[in-house]
Amino acid sequence: MSWEDNVRKVVPYTPGEQPKIKNIIKLNTNENPYPPAPEVEEVLKNLTVDDFRKYPDPTCDELVTAVADFYKVDKENVFVGVGSDDVLAMAFLTFFNSKDPEKKVLFPDITYSFYDVWADLFRIPFEQVSLKEDFTINPEDYYKENAGVVIANPNAPTGVLLPLEQIEEIVKRNPDVVVIVDEAYVDFGGESALPLIDKYENLLVVQTFSKSRSMAGMRIGYAFGSKKIIKYLLDAKFSFNSYTMNMPTLSLGAAAIRDRAYFEECREKVIATRERIKPLLSELGFTFGDSKTNFIFAKHEKMHGKDIFAYLRQNGIIVRRFDLPRIDEYLRISIGTDEEMDRLISVLKEFL
Ligand code: PMP
Repeated sequence: MSWEDNVRKVVPYTPGEQPKIKNIIKLNTNENPYPPAPEVEEVLKNLTVDDFRKYPDPTCDELVTAVADFYKVDKENVFVGVGSDDVLAMAFLTFFNSKDPEKKVLFPDITYSFYDVWADLFRIPFEQVSLKEDFTINPEDYYKENAGVVIANPNAPTGVLLPLEQIEEIVKRNPDVVVIVDEAYVDFGGESALPLIDKYENLLVVQTFSKSRSMAGMRIGYAFGSKKIIKYLLDAKFSFNSYTMNMPTLSLGAAAIRDRAYFEECREKVIATRERIKPLLSELGFTFGDSKTNFIFAKHEKMHGKDIFAYLRQNGIIVRRFDLPRIDEYLRISIGTDEEMDRLISVLKEFL
């Protein structure tokens, strides 16, 4: 017997690289190429070290109010956390607690690769349901008995969107478990399940400031749900760490979300660049699904993703590749500025 027998052993998630090299074109972790809303800088300038002396507000009221106002819901329908990773992890811990080990939490085989890591960490039995050949979800696969459902919509890393009617059908068919819809990328062309929270008490819709609001470094995620489901999340949070969000994050996040016009402008720019790049990638021999996100998940007809990845890197462009079954030939290319994407296209042209 060793102390190590009692260790909760886990295989951790591997986040995308944050390179130390300067002047690199970074298209590997789906960050927004544009800065956060201008008011964020104003609020930042007015912070003083004295603001750090006291504990932050455990209810996160300033941020929760700003999110509730933006989305026209009650504050009791909103939960916030340290990035949507924190919100999702808390939701897994809170809601996936079936007494029956035969019942599994369901999510796609190709999706955000943190889901299986949290399930392992919390010892939650799960089943990875195969996406169809074209990487779309077959909703009927989620109608069987289960211990919970998680769907990223649009899905990552595929970029493919499941229409809202089909999301609703999955929620409707699963009244006995919690259904989590992870909408990290919804602002780039998806339709949010938010309006469904009034109709389905067991639905949790999770979003983030990391992509469409250009604040990945601040770590802000949030969730919408019925007042009952949000209360359960808060109970778990306050049993874990009362102060998940720090003081500057609460103020800066609130400032970021208040500027609706800037948000619209930025996401439209990203969408326009994505749509402009799609035919250029096709001309070069890439195939990909109809991305509704701020990335394109593409495979080349002749060259292996591994070789393209290496050539891009040598030329100062980092994209993401997953060494996983079914997708190892693919590259996930985040949408950068127009200049960055033009450079990408010209380096790809040289290589191919
Ligand atoms: N969900 C999906 C589908 C993602 O791709 C990401 C980004 N890695 C997250 C959640 C987590 O993002 P964050 O913690 O930055 O909100």
